[in-house]
Amino acid sequence: MASAARVDLDGRPIQPITICMIGAGGFIGSHLCEKIMAETPHSVLAVDVYNDKIRHLLEPEGAHAWSGRIQFHRLNIKHDSRLEGLIKMSDLTINLAAICTPADYNTRPLDTIYSNFIDALPVVKYCSENGKRLIHFSTCEVYGKTIGSFLPKDHPLRKEPEFYVLKEDESPCIFGSIEKQRWSYACAKQLIERLIYAEGAENGLEFTIVRPFNWIGPRMDFIPGIDGPSEGVPRVLACFSNNLLRGEPLKLVDGGQSQRTFVYIKDAIEAVLLMIENPERANGQIFNVGNPNNEVTVRQLAEMMTQVYSKVSGESPLDVPTIDVSSKEFYGVGYDDSDKRIPDMTIINKQLGWNPKTSLWDLLESTLTYQHRTYAEAIKRSIAKPVPS
Ligand code: NAD
Ligand code: UDP
Repeated sequence: MASAARVDLDGRPIQPITICMIGAGGFIGSHLCEKIMAETPHSVLAVDVYNDKIRHLLEPEGAHAWSGRIQFHRLNIKHDSRLEGLIKMSDLTINLAAICTPADYNTRPLDTIYSNFIDALPVVKYCSENGKRLIHFSTCEVYGKTIGSFLPKDHPLRKEPEFYVLKEDESPCIFGSIEKQRWSYACAKQLIERLIYAEGAENGLEFTIVRPFNWIGPRMDFIPGIDGPSEGVPRVLACFSNNLLRGEPLKLVDGGQSQRTFVYIKDAIEAVLLMIENPERANGQIFNVGNPNNEVTVRQLAEMMTQVYSKVSGESPLDVPTIDVSSKEFYGVGYDDSDKRIPDMTIINKQLGWNPKTSLWDLLESTLTYQHRTYAEAIKRSIAKPVPS
């Protein structure tokens, strides 16, 4: 529990605030709620349509040191007049609500655009009209493809950082053509970023925009057939975890050549807490939040996860641990990919002094230990169950 002696980065005492957290029941929201309850005096009005991932913070009522500081409001921000009241009651709004799994971008582009742009509009409007601060979650995907990806494959300039490092205030946003519906998400996120920026410029909205670079850890997404739809396609961590838990080869989309940098959720949440508690340093900023030191191709990620899972589960890896699958087969038409994502860290270093700490091996070890402990038995039971004829 927080003591009165907590100070911000400029040595000023931190005053307790009330936070309206929209999408609090999701992966990032659940970790942020945990952190705020355990380490700060702040209160959270947690808004979501689901609360399974934060149930341990809510129940049993009155049993926790933080009881009374977190309140769950089950509402869909698409159509609920209670939203403005909750924003008015708060000092800060954090908007995490979104459809944000790539399998949806090309197959449910309308839902994706509505969720990431239209549904966020009232949140921005209520914050602006009521003089409330907003921390909005965007995505590293607004950068799209790197400039270097348009050069010939072996061109020496591809190795120059200015052709691939992604900088908040300099890099362009490069998306594919309209029929590549993969970019419906990035484009909607880009437009809401521009709208928030314009509200700041024209109407004085105090805002911070967060661009997460592949945050991963426990409670991310779902395991198909166990706590999610059996045909559902979550993000890569849960896809590969599901394959490992079921003893199936991991599927490499288009050869697994795309590169990603992965950051441990617990490191990333430290950055968000610094933003919450240092408004003067965070307002008006767009922050990359990622770990440039944890870069791998998706193929290397699959190999590392296979090794780590074998270590934590005690099971031997498969003889053929991966198989190749085309993106058309895996995601359907209209899929496209970001080739490489290295976050530039200059702005977040300068404003908040934040750096990620956890190596990819260590974060996979703690995450896959969690996956094994949480799901291995349920998977065994589901495999043993006779299929209805
Ligand atoms: P998540 O899907 O786990 O969480 C989103 C939550 O928002 C869910 O609990 C969902 O129920 C809720 N939600 C969606 N629509 C809603 C609505 N209309 N009303 C109420 N609640 C609604 O996703 P996450 O990984 O926690 O991501 C949170 C945010 O961060 C998203 O905006 C996402 O685009 C962004 N982001 C995350 C990552 C990452 O690495 N995890 C990367 C890039 C961007
Ligand atoms: N991917 C894969 N196999 C899977 C799931 C994803 O090869 O089972 C690839 C996907 O094509 C992309 C990368 O892994 O290149 C990361 O995908 P994710 O869904 O996590 O989201 P992204 O980083 O693209 O936003």
